[in-house]
Amino acid sequence: MSKSGNVNRLAKKIRDNTSLTLAASFRLARQVNVRPGPPTADAPDPRQRRFEAHVAHVLAASFQDHQLNGALLGVREAVPNGQRLDLLLEPAMAEAVIYELLPRFDHSYGGIRGVPGLRVTGDGRKWTLHASGLGQVVAARTDCGPIRLPIPRDDEVALWGRPPDDLSRDEKREIGWWADARSVDDVHTRDLLMSRLLRRPELVNRTSEPHGFANCYNHHAGDLVIEWCCGDTVEALCASLLAHGFIDGVPRAGAVELISRHSARLGDATVILNRHASCLYGDDAQTIAEDIKKGYES
Ligand SMILES: [Zn+2]
Repeated sequence: MSKSGNVNRLAKKIRDNTSLTLAASFRLARQVNVRPGPPTADAPDPRQRRFEAHVAHVLAASFQDHQLNGALLGVREAVPNGQRLDLLLEPAMAEAVIYELLPRFDHSYGGIRGVPGLRVTGDGRKWTLHASGLGQVVAARTDCGPIRLPIPRDDEVALWGRPPDDLSRDEKREIGWWADARSVDDVHTRDLLMSRLLRRPELVNRTSEPHGFANCYNHHAGDLVIEWCCGDTVEALCASLLAHGFIDGVPRAGAVELISRHSARLGDATVILNRHASCLYGDDAQTIAEDIKKGYES
């Protein structure tokens, strides 16, 4: 189909699936700057979606503004594989990704870090991260290099060595907290959208492409914020996500809210996109990127 045909089709779809006006839908549809393709498949099992959402949430909270080579959550490619998801990791961040995901009790924090219930099996290059009855992802480096398993820090107790069905009391409580609809307005939308973020790294990573890093964080169990400067505008990123099925099946009322030229909320503020009006780093960007790199080497 011609470019104008694609724009028309997408604008109509945005108008039908959101509360945006036709004019705003066309404005967004014209800004799609990635190749349109079929939407990435969702995880078929809702438990797997909830698990993937937890993985994305933990990675966002862990990495914040410390990425290397533009891999926002440490992920370069995500390949749906039946019931599970295969992740190809940025090589320099791969060990940090595994470390941040594996559950451990942190005495100085007084609680669990990582994804509760997660256990690991593998051969040193490809690790299966599985949580019994919840879901699994398989992680490897894009260059197929080795990934060492972490050694717990002095103030941490590793929980990932326990048998898969032997969850600690704190792990059970954390799993319950993540699944508890009372802590989040719409837990199904959260699971769907955060899982979709994890499954679309090629779009998500556009935010960290200009400088090699961006910022991501959470306010609570129900949101994931991405903040950046330079590169894609908020509307362009939003448009690309919508073109790739990001809000398909999400309740129409809060599916997309354009708060300003620099801020958008997707799925009733489950995913919040904020772009600063001007560059935050200027000439310091390179130095900051090098400092982040040294942090991963130490
Ligand atoms: Zn910038």
